[in-house]
Amino acid sequence: ETFEEAALHPVMKENIALARYTVPTPVQKNSISIVTAGRDLMACAQTGSGKTAAFLIPTCSALFSKPELITRPSAGGGARRGVAKPLVLIIAPTRELCSQIFDESRRFCYRSKLRPCCVYGGAGVQGQIQQVLIGCDVLVAAPGRLLDLMERGVISLSNLKYLVLDEADRMLDMGFERTIREIVEGTDMAKNRQTLMYSATFPREIRTLAKDFLRPNYLFLR
Ligand code: AMP
Repeated sequence: ETFEEAALHPVMKENIALARYTVPTPVQKNSISIVTAGRDLMACAQTGSGKTAAFLIPTCSALFSKPELITRPSAGGGARRGVAKPLVLIIAPTRELCSQIFDESRRFCYRSKLRPCCVYGGAGVQGQIQQVLIGCDVLVAAPGRLLDLMERGVISLSNLKYLVLDEADRMLDMGFERTIREIVEGTDMAKNRQTLMYSATFPREIRTLAKDFLRPNYLFLR
């Protein structure tokens, strides 16, 4: 099967062709059908499996046909500051991984109304706030900086349609479990979201996180 045959928005098919991807990898095939079916997913995915495109392609493609979901922070003026409300949130452990995912999100959002955005620690927060307020429909974020921007009232997850946890096992190894739980459970995150988790290993902590974050009928692809 090719990407051309998959149930994807024509703009997404053009962007895939521009990236010169022709045949979906196994994790891409699985992720496309699961997202289309509206179910949650826990998938085994190593680096190099094509997992980045696996979650970006179906989620962004589904949103291409729903431009009415996009909201922009009010341009400012007066006491009310703008709040960005992403539709897709990808949480990843490191700045490097976030940057890679962000680069790929720009490819796949090309010629669409979706604006990708990227935030992580160790870089100036004011510049990132400005970027976020320009437009952040697809947000790629490291956990600490994301929670910081949520606590500052710059980002709200109340409009979120898709939550992706990439390299979930690595995020737990790095001590991010509390931060991630705070983001997912301790905020106004939309309850009707679809959630996708990708991990290379499945220790007990990961399976517990899946049970807490995914809907009961989620698919587990090892
Ligand atoms: P990832 O596992 O997401 O880090 O992707 C590994 C590499 O494979 C990246 O350089 C992608 O650009 C590339 N890639 C992902 N999916 C495909 C595909 N279907 N066809 C060709 N290359 C791909």
